[in-house]
Amino acid sequence: MKMVHSTGSRPKKSLGQNFLIDAIFIDRIVAAVDASSADLICEIGPGRGALTERLVRTGAEIVAVELDRKLIDPLTDRFKAQPNFHLIEQDALTVDFPKLFADRNFSIARLASVKLVANLPFYISTAILQRLSAQREFFSTLVLMFQKEVVDRITADPGNSERGFLTVIVESAFQIERLFDVPPNAFQPSPKVWSSVVRLIPKPVAAGEDDLRSLLSAGFAQKRKTISNNLKTAFPKYAEALALAAIDPKLRAERLTLEDWIRLSDAIRSVS
Ligand code: SAM
Repeated sequence: MKMVHSTGSRPKKSLGQNFLIDAIFIDRIVAAVDASSADLICEIGPGRGALTERLVRTGAEIVAVELDRKLIDPLTDRFKAQPNFHLIEQDALTVDFPKLFADRNFSIARLASVKLVANLPFYISTAILQRLSAQREFFSTLVLMFQKEVVDRITADPGNSERGFLTVIVESAFQIERLFDVPPNAFQPSPKVWSSVVRLIPKPVAAGEDDLRSLLSAGFAQKRKTISNNLKTAFPKYAEALALAAIDPKLRAERLTLEDWIRLSDAIRSVS
């Protein structure tokens, strides 16, 4: 079932504006969020309001962050009768999420379970995933739609050439559940590629995450090189650390599990 809710303005390719129009997929995403009137839900990029409409109806408080000024008036107008809809005109990449919620005086009970939902443009996928990983303690669940290749990358197992810096960062921050794929014709305009929806459940924040991030950044610097060649310049005692963590120095970074990276990060700290 296709529904088009026009705002009059043309979709902007530069902002990744492919609007969901297929009610079946809209329903499936909203069901994955499992929203209730007790929730506080942050939506990044409400667009023309396809997901927002269903979320507002659950009675949850909705804080929507939209960058495109041209969509602000139509969204404000569409939800003007809904006191539980709050619209922020801002770049999601600059949002300080705890401050965003604190500024609006939501109750402590609501702040205990903040959910995030977004159908994200390709151009901010990596940056927003890093930002959400760093600020994950403020969320209970995140339901995100990306281009399928982004989801392939963040769910790539050890040994898969798609596995990289972003995979391990996301793995270290969240339990990842791949939910379903969405075909191009569920959007208007239709993108060239399929999309995929994932549910991310935040893991507790652990000590040493900054060290792990620096290690991953060095470890994946050049994907075709071995782990020892990549670590050489950043960590003078890399050989000792690899031996202590029982990691074969000739492996490529994509072969290492999250547990290997954490062990290696601990080993670097203890030999330094
Ligand atoms: N949620 C709507 C839907 O599913 O139909 C729209 C999804 S569309 C793929 C992406 C939305 O994100 C657009 O409304 C776009 O303007 C918005 N957007 C793009 N970059 C953004 C950013 N940096 N911060 C906030 N919103 C952004």
